[in-house]
Amino acid sequence: MMRAWLLPAILLLAACGPGPEEAETRHRFMAMGTLVDVTLYGVPAAEAEAAAREVETLFHALHREWQPYGDGALGQLNHALGTVPGTVPTDLATLIAEAERLAEATGGLFDPRLGALVKLWGFGSDETMPAAPPPPEAIAAWLATRPVEYDLGGFAKGVAVDRAIELLQARGIEHAIVNAGGDLRAIGRKGERRWRIGIRAPRDAGKVMAALEAGDDESVFTSGDYERWFEFEGRRYHHILDPRTGYPTEGLASVTVLHTDAALADAAATALAVAGPADWPATAAALGLEAVMVVHDDGRIELTPAMQPRVWFTSEDYGRQARVRSLP
Ligand code: AMP
Ligand code: MG
Repeated sequence: MMRAWLLPAILLLAACGPGPEEAETRHRFMAMGTLVDVTLYGVPAAEAEAAAREVETLFHALHREWQPYGDGALGQLNHALGTVPGTVPTDLATLIAEAERLAEATGGLFDPRLGALVKLWGFGSDETMPAAPPPPEAIAAWLATRPVEYDLGGFAKGVAVDRAIELLQARGIEHAIVNAGGDLRAIGRKGERRWRIGIRAPRDAGKVMAALEAGDDESVFTSGDYERWFEFEGRRYHHILDPRTGYPTEGLASVTVLHTDAALADAAATALAVAGPADWPATAAALGLEAVMVVHDDGRIELTPAMQPRVWFTSEDYGRQARVRSLP
């Protein structure tokens, strides 16, 4: 087996082109519970490696700081919320203020204060998956009291991707993709061509449903009910929670948002999933989005007029299911 792998790898290296400056480099690491790819174009190998390592360090640091529980800044804040008010580091305070602004813009559908509910459901840990839903009384108690515990999981990845891109730009890098588990921001180009982005199919594991060519600076974020879920007594329960009911959202299998700002795209994808099949266009409009694609539970696909010309489907089946839906 080893030998079978080795040969194509060598061929690939040989095909990389004339000089190291012209090649595409890719560095991959695990952070924030997901695989992160840093792809750079036109950057000499040593410089690319150093830049990717900095991005990796950044992701690990932010993950530590923004984990809802533990020793990081957010963990300490959540711990202190139950006791005496302490001081919040400026960076975290800014992040929470931004999250609160998004909560307001979405009428509370994006709810960074639902940490205790996420914990109740058992989605708070990267390592373990819950075995059963919480008892209904526990959910009713959360709804009645709404204790404040921050969980920034709905947009922390987006903020991290934005910061990673800023870090690369500060190093003079103009052509890059930072891809965290399929959610990404792309800047510049891949030489003569535009960066090509794949969008996963929510119900065909591992398959790409649609593709698009990124503009000069674009983020593509998808929220889906297939990312973290468990099955209990024949029902699926997933990690995007509706703060109005305390239960996982229903109706949309995935939401993909295109925007310059990765943080906004990330939060928006989560918020639109909560808004659901009837109301996602209103929430998209409230957030100032233009390009959105949603996949319904039953496979129907809806695209906004701005998204429609940007994507192409990888099979006619997907294309047949697709309709354009305007924003209010
Ligand atoms: P995403 O994959 O970006 O949609 O984020 C999902 C994560 O955001 C969950 O694992 C929770 O940590 C958190 N979350 C779940 N429901 C919400 C919600 N309604 N608003 C904000 N964050 C949420
Ligand atoms: Mg999100």
